[in-house]
Amino acid sequence: MAASRRTWCDEGRTHFEYIVVGCGGIGSAAVYWLAKRAKADVLGIEQFELGHHNGGSQDHSRIIRLTYHDDRYTKIARETFQTWHEVEKESGVQLVYKSGGLNMSRRGEADLIMENYAKAMDDQNIKYERLDSEALMKKFPQFEVDKDVISLYQPDAGLVDAALANSVHLQLARGYGASILANAPVIRVLRNDTGQISVQTTKGTFTCRRLVVAAGAWINQVLGSVGVHIPVTVTQEQVTYMGTPYIKEFTKDKFPMFLYHAKEHDYYQIPIHGNSCSKIGVDAGGPPVTGNTRNFVVDPVREKLCVDLMQSLAPKFVGPIMYTKTCLYTMTPDRHFVIDKCDKEGWSDVIFCCGAGHAFKFACLLGKIMSEMAIDGETQYDIAGFTRYREAITDPNYPNDFQWGKQIAEQAAARAKL
Ligand SMILES: Cc1cc2nc3c(=O)[nH]c(=O)nc-3n(C[C@H](O)[C@H](O)[C@H](O)COP(=O)(O)OP(=O)(O)OC[C@H]3O[C@@H](n4cnc5c(N)ncnc54)[C@H](O)[C@@H]3O)c2cc1C
Repeated sequence: MAASRRTWCDEGRTHFEYIVVGCGGIGSAAVYWLAKRAKADVLGIEQFELGHHNGGSQDHSRIIRLTYHDDRYTKIARETFQTWHEVEKESGVQLVYKSGGLNMSRRGEADLIMENYAKAMDDQNIKYERLDSEALMKKFPQFEVDKDVISLYQPDAGLVDAALANSVHLQLARGYGASILANAPVIRVLRNDTGQISVQTTKGTFTCRRLVVAAGAWINQVLGSVGVHIPVTVTQEQVTYMGTPYIKEFTKDKFPMFLYHAKEHDYYQIPIHGNSCSKIGVDAGGPPVTGNTRNFVVDPVREKLCVDLMQSLAPKFVGPIMYTKTCLYTMTPDRHFVIDKCDKEGWSDVIFCCGAGHAFKFACLLGKIMSEMAIDGETQYDIAGFTRYREAITDPNYPNDFQWGKQIAEQAAARAKL
């Protein structure tokens, strides 16, 4: 009986139909969706303790939004909200909060980017408002911006409580009978004599019929066993929490999340949730590292950029820095997801996903997609754009293009030439 489960794992069992490597945001969702259908035939394996802070998924909040500049994401954005709601309904725990969301910039600095977001919303029939500086300050008096600041406001955006979502996924999965084995790094993946997949860990060997790999920054260490290499760059990112004295003005029911597109960087801000601090980070601004070489040392330069930006946009947001949390992005050269199988190498029973440093909002849906690929052999969702057989993944000379803003501007400029 689910209610009597007192451990994370059914001790002694070594074969499961489905094994998931990695219990971060995406892996924990995959364990949940698999367990919903395959019950106790699921094992999730995590190299660290559950809820650890070494990967990409453990913080109070992550932005969720309908808007993207690329229809690969806008096509599935509504479904991502639906899957989160399904988990909320089942657990009785709220995971998604709508705060509304802004794309902001200074007129003349990122016009193409702003227009591309507007176009993507128009194309998908997503309702939004254009705000000049006056309209922005009227709607959100917390802002004190210069005349040339322009914004697009979309009311459905908000945040997902990331750490809570991970534990909710795993607890519900355990309730269905799934086993979760923590502190057990997967060392190697092999094919045994009977054709099953054999997963060697520091805590023993387990076999399965389908393997799902959601290993974040360690993706190539795991996929290397089956001869697959995905060109990823891992960077050490950070978000800064500030102790604003004006707490009441920056809670998620009063202040929207925003993306701010500046000349050199994109910034993202999430209103107060999970603690009493306002939160902001520079997107994709950190140094390259690996899952094993990263440190937890804070970069004061990016901290200052964040403080300065908020000082110029909403000075009351700023307070003493409470802490800055480091975290990993694992990015493909074009910064788009990869969701695919290791079919070319003879391992079509191994499915994997790379979230490219912006996947938490989709974590629940990505888990569902991989559960369908594992159980049914295919998914109902349109993931054609996330194939590993696209140029950015297959061409070793494909240049890294991590900054959304730059990418969007170049696409728009190319379109304008046609
Ligand atoms: C600072 C920051 C801000 C972000 N903001 C947003 C945002 O606002 N919105 C958004 O949508 N996304 C955001 N992201 C991106 C998003 O959080 C990530 O894309 C997502 O969480 C990645 O999830 P994951 O499961 O792939 O990786 P991880 O959470 O890193 O999980 C991978 C797991 O696999 C385990 N593992 C690896 N190798 C092995 C092995 N050999 N054996 C066993 N276990 C193994 C790891 O220990 C880890 O737990 C942000 C990321 C960062 C760092």
